[in-house]
Amino acid sequence: MIKILKDSYGRTIDYLRISITDHCNLRCVYCVTDNVTWVPHEEILRFEEIATIVRTFVKEGIRKVRITGGEPLMRKGLPEFISQISTTEGLEDLSLTTNGVFLHPLARDLKEAGLKRINVSLDTFKPERYKIITGRDLFKQVWQGIQTAREVGLFPVKINVVAMKGVNDDELLDFVRLTMDEPYVIRFIEYMPVNEKWNEESFLSVKKIRQRIESVYPLVPIEGTHNNGPARVFRVPGSKGEIGLISPLSNHFCGTCNRIRLTADGHLRPCLFSDLEIDLKTSLRNGGGKAALRQLLDRALKLKPLQHHLNTVSATKCHRGMWSIGG
Ligand code: SAM
Repeated sequence: MIKILKDSYGRTIDYLRISITDHCNLRCVYCVTDNVTWVPHEEILRFEEIATIVRTFVKEGIRKVRITGGEPLMRKGLPEFISQISTTEGLEDLSLTTNGVFLHPLARDLKEAGLKRINVSLDTFKPERYKIITGRDLFKQVWQGIQTAREVGLFPVKINVVAMKGVNDDELLDFVRLTMDEPYVIRFIEYMPVNEKWNEESFLSVKKIRQRIESVYPLVPIEGTHNNGPARVFRVPGSKGEIGLISPLSNHFCGTCNRIRLTADGHLRPCLFSDLEIDLKTSLRNGGGKAALRQLLDRALKLKPLQHHLNTVSATKCHRGMWSIGG
């Protein structure tokens, strides 16, 4: 019998995002705080523990899993872990979000392990600018990784672009052009106030992003073909790829939120922007077993808030940063 998970507001919850490490090799201005601290190694869930959670939750109604971080490709043994969970009966979609720095050497192994598709975060095509945004001179590696991902058949390759006024908004059309001849999915994401460096002046709404694109290229709304989640999806007529617009701030999509998140240190987070968390690790390590996991999942769904308050309460009040939750 197929089970369906519902939260207390009647939303179907079928999507689990798993942060497998809080470590990251980049220092993106919009993500990592200056005083970053890492969770001690022994507090990070082991792959076997995460696999137990995945299997238990998929039996309860989770259908989609995304691996994220920190930077997930920094964790040793990732392809083996992917093969461990990719065959979970009932799991319909397994994807991964990465900064792409280590993608070139790992893409084939990930694909062979059962990963279907991938999201790569890339906010600029200019190596110098990449260095300013991420704190590291690694643009070339990321671009090579994106191409390798396509070559080995990870499909689609989605590119996540945090659009920021005065930072990379002069490149919006370059990203759009990338969809003309190649089937990339470009996803423009609004800049969210998740750390103390956020400044409102850099915020660019999805409405403005769309206007900028449409001043040059027509955008035709489409249904979207590849699990687009909260993105509104468009295509430039005749192009091979798609353009997604994601508006967590200007037009939040909490009403259709289908997600829960697992932090690297084993806490279930019903809402990205609420510090409310359910500790799974203690139960797992004390031999709580699958029945206890199911109860904790149930509790998390009961506590999932109706919506975030990013517009009214500073998200910097969240005790965890994005690098720790996984975005
Ligand atoms: N290291 C991986 C990566 O770079 O994709 C996964 C973790 S990262 C936290 C996940 C996503 O969160 C990235 O696409 C990143 O651009 C996004 N993100 C982080 N901080 C953000 C912010 N302030 N506003 C919008 N998106 C943000």
